[in-house]
Amino acid sequence: MEHTRYIWKNGELVEWADATVHIGVHGLHYGSGVFEGIRAYETSGGPAVFRLRDHLERLERSARLVKMTLPYTPSELRAATLDLLAANEADSAYIRPIAFYGAGGLGVLTRDNPVEVAIMSWPWGAYLGEDALEHGIRVTVSTWQRVGANVVPHVAKATGVYLNSLLALQEATSAGYDEAILLTPDGHVADGSGENVFVVRDDVVFTPDLSASILPGITRETVLEIARDLGHRVVEKPLIRTDLYLADEVFLTGTAAEVTPVREVDGHELGPPGPVTLELQQAYLDTVHGRSDRWSPAWLDPVPQCRATSAA
Ligand code: PMP
Repeated sequence: MEHTRYIWKNGELVEWADATVHIGVHGLHYGSGVFEGIRAYETSGGPAVFRLRDHLERLERSARLVKMTLPYTPSELRAATLDLLAANEADSAYIRPIAFYGAGGLGVLTRDNPVEVAIMSWPWGAYLGEDALEHGIRVTVSTWQRVGANVVPHVAKATGVYLNSLLALQEATSAGYDEAILLTPDGHVADGSGENVFVVRDDVVFTPDLSASILPGITRETVLEIARDLGHRVVEKPLIRTDLYLADEVFLTGTAAEVTPVREVDGHELGPPGPVTLELQQAYLDTVHGRSDRWSPAWLDPVPQCRATSAA
């Protein structure tokens, strides 16, 4: 992980090495935190953050679902993010806002635990590798089930939930796969460890609906909108594992993974990335890089003033 100069922590920019926490923070012991993953891309008009407001609103909803009151509004966090990117002179970045219960009592029930908020940004290329974006990845259906709606709120991007993702990813990678797809307890396709799942069959684009224990992904929503706009039939409905095996195309979406083609599921060869996947991947990358007149203006939040520019 490449270090950058600053991290925004509880209202101020601090040096990377100084952004530390005490070993007694509640969030460390019990996974009591919420977070976001956001990307800023280089565009011809300078760096711009993709769907920043939408991510910060999801952070606020995640917090509400775990009854955490954020000490900053989404607008304040938006300003903080843009300040941080300018201070780090970032052309492009992965951005990680996190809110967690800090040090206080160490019972499970929070008492006197302040809510701490921080935002990191650093350069991060293709999450699953450039080769993954171009040639696709091999995935396996996990024996670990995705957290259910009455286990922890899967709609919340909460830190503790990622133990579920970690277990699935450990299992998949030790069996030689690149990524895991988790099912719900009743056998419906839910999410990858950090991505939403799409299936293309007979030119129809399918993805699990929100009741299938998925995280309501912002990339998912973006790709659905782009696909509809490009004239594809899009269906959100419950899917089962054999829909993956019999698919014409499968791809995963996420802020980190962008649009990643899948070339094999559990030994079922799907072949090289298919035409629908490639069309949506291209449209997505054009959008985030500001190359699309159609979608970019609504979704890109320019970083107002880079220190690199002001110093020049
Ligand atoms: N599902 C899970 C479990 C995830 O962790 C992520 C990544 N945040 C996604 C889906 C995709 O969400 P987004 O497109 O908003 O990054």
